[in-house]
Formats: sequence, structure tokens, C-alpha cells
Amino acid sequence: MLMALQQELSLLAHLQKELNQRKTDGLLRQRRLLDSPQAEHIVANDKKFLSFCSNDYLGLANHPDLIAAMQRAAGDSGVGSGASNLITGHHRYHDNLEKQLAKFVEMPAALLFSTGYMANIGVIGALMGRNDAIFADKLNHACLNEGAYFSRAEFYRFSHNDVNALEKLLKASTAKHKLIAADAVFSMDGDIAPIPDYLRLCEQYDAYLYMDDAHGFGVLGKHGKGSLSHFNLKSPRIIMMATLGKAAGVAGAFVAGEQVVIDYLIQKANSYVYSTPAPPALSATLVASLSLIERGDDLRAHLQHLIQTLKRNLYLKKWQLMPSETAIQPLLVGSNHAAVKLSEYLQKQGILVPAIRPPTVPMNTARLRISLSATHTENDVLKFAQVLNQAESELA
Ligand SMILES: *Cc1c(COP(=O)(O)O)cnc(C)c1O
Repeated sequence: MLMALQQELSLLAHLQKELNQRKTDGLLRQRRLLDSPQAEHIVANDKKFLSFCSNDYLGLANHPDLIAAMQRAAGDSGVGSGASNLITGHHRYHDNLEKQLAKFVEMPAALLFSTGYMANIGVIGALMGRNDAIFADKLNHACLNEGAYFSRAEFYRFSHNDVNALEKLLKASTAKHKLIAADAVFSMDGDIAPIPDYLRLCEQYDAYLYMDDAHGFGVLGKHGKGSLSHFNLKSPRIIMMATLGKAAGVAGAFVAGEQVVIDYLIQKANSYVYSTPAPPALSATLVASLSLIERGDDLRAHLQHLIQTLKRNLYLKKWQLMPSETAIQPLLVGSNHAAVKLSEYLQKQGILVPAIRPPTVPMNTARLRISLSATHTENDVLKFAQVLNQAESELA
């Protein structure tokens, strides 16, 4: 009996060993306990911090209008969806948000998902199949790769933003259908993909473009319409995804594209079909958020000012900001331990920016993923720059 039990526990022993190894390698991740709303000043692990690490780029996660909208909508639509979309879970609030989102991004139709992760695995998994091929940037978000895996299509990865490498792959491909998948704004690098080049290749090689705009939506383009608007692009070959838990400040995601694409996904995207939609009250909140985004040119201008303020006030020799024009301004440090040491130094000064390490980023490119939000003040950023300058002179 005891023998059998020990054998059954071999998995648990294995898990413990893996965890110990992660710790030895300086890769063990830990959650912080947050006791405040998401904002620029937060309480984490019982301490107050000035935070530079949320994706709440416009500062909407704690916006009074949205809190009121959520309370109101919970009052008239309840708190739970209760059934999947194809049974009785598709509420008018969901439907209305989908229509508003499609109109906002100027695409024929849109479909809501509960998270961006679910959208990517569901959409790529549904649109591509065995005789198809997916071409993905090496630095894409993990869930795009998982979508490719679910689809069973051939899967090719090209070097970051490398249009020539991508063209070679497309040229050589005999796949029935081809999909280029890329982050529009790279989550750990902050740079923007060469989307116009990708679209040109799509037209040349009869491919389609799946663009994950998690970090461009709300921030880039006219009135925050996102990366497509930033480049002024429109094409029936484009399918876009954006998350609603980042700049939009709430939760969820949507996919937008031609009506036929959306109609097909409603039938075939498993993470849509077999899952309970987010509460309708969230959709009502997001309609209010969309309106703040659209009217948020001042927020975006302030955010741009903060980005320039950070760049102009860092005098670093060893560490460097990676080339980025977006609210994501990663500071490349290199080794895991050095990045963790810097992050700990900042925490002692009351500033929170976690170290990002492999496997989230490539080996030897551990970094501080600095992100700015429209709720930061110029003084917040000046103080942060001063502490970083000081940190380099003491640590590097
Ligand atoms: C955050 C993120 C996702 C996942 O979105 P969630 O709504 O958080 O699940 C997908 N793609 C990219 C590029 C992201 O940054």
C-alpha cells in the first residue's frame, strides 16, 4: 500500500525538483499581493509603491465612470452569464459591445472572447488546419504559438520583424492557406511590427494577416483605434485581435474581421463555443470604456509626453532602453540576477518594476519591463529616472 502510494507520488516529487531548479536558476516567479485598485500608486505585499508595470496605459482600470457603469449594469443584468453564447448566454450587452467595437476599429464585424489568450487559441485553432501553414514572429506572445499548435497546421517562426526571412518562407510554402501571425506591438519589447510589409506579402502570396493588437489598441492610431489605424491599413486579408484588459482597463478581448470570418468563428472557435461568456455587466462597462478611449486624445498626448520625459532623463551607460516609441519601454539589463538585483533596489526606493526573465524573453536579455500610464505625472517619471540613474552608478 505504502509502495503504491510512493509510486503515485512520483509526479509530485518531480514537480518539487523542477521548482527547486527554477529557484537555483533565479527564475522562480512570485505573485505579489495587491491590496489597492490597479493604478500608478499601489499597495503590494503591504507596501506602497509607485508602479511602472501595469498595462493600464490610459489609467482606466480604476476610472470612476467605469466603476459606476459596472455597478449600474450589474443592477440590471446580474453578475453572471449563466450559459454559453450559443445557448442563452449571449446578452444584448455583449451584442452591443461587439457592434461598437467593430464600428470603432472600422471592421465589418467583431466577436468577444473572455480573454485574449482564449481568443488567440480559439481563432488560430479554428481558421487554420492540417494542410495550412502559419508564419509567426519569434517574439510573438506565447498564446499565438499555442493557437498554432491547436490548429495542427505547419508552423514556421521567423526572426523578429524580419520581412525578408518571412518572404522566403512564404515563397517556398505549398500550403493550402497561409496565415502570418504577429504581435502588432511586442509585449516585452515595445516595438511595432512592420505591418504594411506583412500586408504586401499577404497580397503577393495569397496569405492572411492575424494581428494581435493587445498593446496598440487604445494607445496607437487615430483616437486610439490601434495599430491598423496607426498605419492607415484596411484589407479583407486582415483579422485583428485586441485585449480589453489592458488600455481598455476592464477584461476580455475581441476579434474583428470580415463578416464571414466572424460567422465561421461563432461555429468553430472552441474557446468561444464551449465557454461561458464574461458577465454582461463587463460588456456594458466596456462600452463606456470605448467612449473614454475615443475621447482620450489628451490621455494619449500625456502618455507620449511621459515617454519622451523618461527617454530624455536617463543617463545610462551600461543598461539601455530598447528602441520603442510605445508605452512599453524595456530596460535591457542582461543577466537574470542583475535584473532581479535592480528590481529589488528599486523596490527599496518604493518603485515597482518587476524583472522579466526567460522563458518570457530570450536568454541573456533579462530586462525591466517599464510601462507608463497616462495617470503617471511628469514628476513620477522624473523621480523614477533619477533613481534609475543612481541605481546604475551603484550596481552596474
Ligand atoms: C496580454 C496579451 C495577450 C493575452 O490577453 P489576456 O486578455 O490577458 O488573456 C495576448 N497577446 C498579447 C500580445 C498580450 O500581451
